[in-house]
Amino acid sequence: MTARVLDGTAIRERIYAELRKEIAELRAAGVRPGLAAVVVGDDPASKIYVRNKIAACEQLGLGNFHITPPANLSTAELLAMVRELNARDEVDGILVQLPLPGQIDARQILEAVDPAKDVDGFHPMNIGRLAEGRPNLVACTPLGVMEILQRSGIRMDGANAVVVGRSNIVGKPMALLLLQANATVTVCHSKTRDLRRFTREADILVAAIGRAGFIRAVDVKPGATVIDVGINRISDAREAQDIFANFPERLEKFRKNGSVIAGDVHPEVAQVAGALTPVPGGVGPLTIAMLMSNTVKAARLRRELQNPAAVALR
Ligand code: NDP
Repeated sequence: MTARVLDGTAIRERIYAELRKEIAELRAAGVRPGLAAVVVGDDPASKIYVRNKIAACEQLGLGNFHITPPANLSTAELLAMVRELNARDEVDGILVQLPLPGQIDARQILEAVDPAKDVDGFHPMNIGRLAEGRPNLVACTPLGVMEILQRSGIRMDGANAVVVGRSNIVGKPMALLLLQANATVTVCHSKTRDLRRFTREADILVAAIGRAGFIRAVDVKPGATVIDVGINRISDAREAQDIFANFPERLEKFRKNGSVIAGDVHPEVAQVAGALTPVPGGVGPLTIAMLMSNTVKAARLRRELQNPAAVALR
């Protein structure tokens, strides 16, 4: 048996088609949802991420504002920028690209973002609402995983779901979303004793660990749905050979580029799982799609709060 491939790129395109319609309706009503991206300094990876996010805004017709302060600014200066964005009416979503330079108090910055514009879902108010089962704006990657599960018809109600990883941006919100979808949720992490005992019981297994090929076929219950959040760049030839032994095209890529991307789930899992997200092309494409979706949602919600009559926009 080979697992059904859960194609994130195809799901993203369906979501974009829906968003385009929603954005057209909003624009007809005189509202152009807008996203502001703050990128401090010139970290090359951050620049690429933000460039992709802005390209998605342009593709969908969302307003976008790119703020690029120098790496040496102070927490107070960045706070002032965030407050100005909070006050601007044409800005519906604010994202502050992480990581921030060491001299900046990242926690203070994330807490300064207006929760109504917090499209990354990192503000304690939004995390608290998610924990209460009243989600508002939720972190994009776990939200994208939920879209994959729902749109692929994977039953969550009553399922045993195991999340490996407990970060604030992936593992924890993922666990809360699955709990809200009535799964029985177990969260594993680096201190979990006999982790594989848990993963083998999972009907839905989400790997958000940051270790290439960590989840092997023996760790997975036959027929389970396996969601691979990991994005790991491998530059060690032996590791690449171990993970991609049966994938000559990936080994070729490694030989050509000196590195290759692998998920947290070993490709051999496809022989055991019932359904599996590929890396790349699984969870990755959904993360930016959910950022776009959160921006549109924030635009709607903020106007509804300011003017309840605008509920008619729905
Ligand atoms: P973090 O490093 O913040 O968290 C990793 C988690 O995995 C921690 O909770 C850690 O446990 C746990 N962990 C690490 N090693 C082990 C181990 N040996 N056994 C059990 N648990 C372990 O990573 P993120 O959550 O930010 O990201 C996880 C992965 O997802 C990365 O590969 C990242 O690149 C990818 N990612 C992908 C995105 C996408 O768009 N597809 C978006 C965001 C992330 P502990 O808490 O005990 O240290």
